[in-house]
Amino acid sequence: MLEARDLRKSFGAIVATDGLSLTVEHGRIHALIGPNGAGKSTALAQLGGSLTPDEGQVLLDGRPIGGLDEASRARLGIARSFQISALFPEMTARESVAMAVMAARPHHARFWRPAATDRGLTDPAQAALDRLGIGHLAHTRAGQLAHGQRRLLEMAMALACRPRVLLLDEPMAGLGATETRSLTEVIRGLRPDMAILLVEHDMDVVFELADVVTVLVDGRVIASGPPAAIRDDPEVRRAYLSE
Ligand code: ADP
Ligand code: MG
Repeated sequence: MLEARDLRKSFGAIVATDGLSLTVEHGRIHALIGPNGAGKSTALAQLGGSLTPDEGQVLLDGRPIGGLDEASRARLGIARSFQISALFPEMTARESVAMAVMAARPHHARFWRPAATDRGLTDPAQAALDRLGIGHLAHTRAGQLAHGQRRLLEMAMALACRPRVLLLDEPMAGLGATETRSLTEVIRGLRPDMAILLVEHDMDVVFELADVVTVLVDGRVIASGPPAAIRDDPEVRRAYLSE
């Protein structure tokens, strides 16, 4: 469904992705792992459209989308978990998600005030909050939420756009054990409805969720396959897992 073909991206002398190819399929969780600086975030950025590759192609359902910016790709159903900095602290959780719904529907564009009471926006927003188990926080301001709750809110904002492809960059970072557990279950529950590319440091989460694991080292894929095969791959163990 979403395919990266031979993506190359350099920052000066640093080659961040050095001919990266991978395919993320509907109903699958594809984990992208590798040491710090391997090029994982750069890869996600090229798929999401916030970064243009020097070479290579990004295809959605076989059609090249490399010429589209991030907003256009979002409208095609490619979502990235919103960053915390994207949250307005004064906005409630439900307003934040409603805003994300509105952003994903250009035909729905209108001024904010009416949007806050527009059930075409607030109903899907509430549904997304409920799905993440934070429905009871709908009227809490984003700035008052605990770190883990904000993470869930970012995820709700991504989901409210009804994505077909979800790109997640270390969703468990900074979460406690209980929050990690519940977010793992949330991601598992999303699997049937979309294609998910998951960059994650927590190997327990990776090996629990992933259908396919791709290992990136120095911008290059050194292995890709089912989790069990990756776990036992001697080169992967040497380069990454046993570090
Ligand atoms: P990862 O997410 O796997 O830790 P990144 O994709 O963030 O790795 O980074 C890959 C390499 O590219 C690193 O060496 C990093 O320092 C470099 N890099 C990433 N973004 C930039 C940038 N905007 N400018 C310069 N170098 C960058
Ligand atoms: Mg990164």
